[in-house]
Amino acid sequence: MFDTHCHLNFKRFKKNVGEVISRAHERGVLNMVIPGTDVKTSKRAIELADQYPGIYAAVGIHPHHVYKLLKRDDITAESEVSAIEQMLRSPKAVAVGEVGMDRHVYEETVYEEYAVSTEFIEIQKNLLEMQIDLAIKYNKSLILHNREAKQDLLQLLREKWNPHLEHRAVFHCCEPHAELLEFAQEHNMFIGVDGDVTYDKNKQEFIQKVPLHMLVIETDSPYILPEPLLSKKQYPNEPKNVVYVAEMIAKLKLTSLESVVAETSQNGKILFGLG
Ligand SMILES: [Zn+2]
Ligand SMILES: [Zn+2]
Repeated sequence: MFDTHCHLNFKRFKKNVGEVISRAHERGVLNMVIPGTDVKTSKRAIELADQYPGIYAAVGIHPHHVYKLLKRDDITAESEVSAIEQMLRSPKAVAVGEVGMDRHVYEETVYEEYAVSTEFIEIQKNLLEMQIDLAIKYNKSLILHNREAKQDLLQLLREKWNPHLEHRAVFHCCEPHAELLEFAQEHNMFIGVDGDVTYDKNKQEFIQKVPLHMLVIETDSPYILPEPLLSKKQYPNEPKNVVYVAEMIAKLKLTSLESVVAETSQNGKILFGLG
């Protein structure tokens, strides 16, 4: 299996990342992509990818963390993007990500007085544009995050679209909206499915409409714990649990687990240009 989105670079896994990777291997999760969310976690993603075969890194500034630029004078959009650009020279950095747009007002955040202002959205757009340019310039894939901001994201993608991104971009943890699916179909993008598909009826109906050749599976570890682990409160989520996502897809599409595993693994390799 291929967990195309897991944050093994986060503090949560600092003490036991080796064990978490062993458990994933035991369950047949042999490929993983670790996306960065800022400069520090992007660096850590590359460190881990360099250390383990089958593990790859994505580097990027997440729209939530673009908030730093509003609060700090010692960094600029240019300095942040240039740090990401440096990291793209690493051979195991296969993608720019996760980048995108996010209008969700987070309650649990490291940022004081967090609010989604017009200025903040403009900075998110600016960073996203610059990072899409990097993916194109360095021939890398693109992991797109969207939360409650599909109009902003789609408008910007329409303006910035480049044929290089065909088969090389994903709506990770895709919100269940027909417009996102339509855009993905028109532009040969992939749709990322997470553990919430095991209990969220809207996502289940949505995934039934997405052809298997467009789907990749992800855990977004340490977040989005799937059922039945959620009821048992078996936190944190980790890559070995991606099998619950594959099982639910098989159930929704009336097909075998084996065919979902085979196809989503192949899709993951195409998405990240892994041959
Ligand atoms: Zn995300
Ligand atoms: Zn993520």
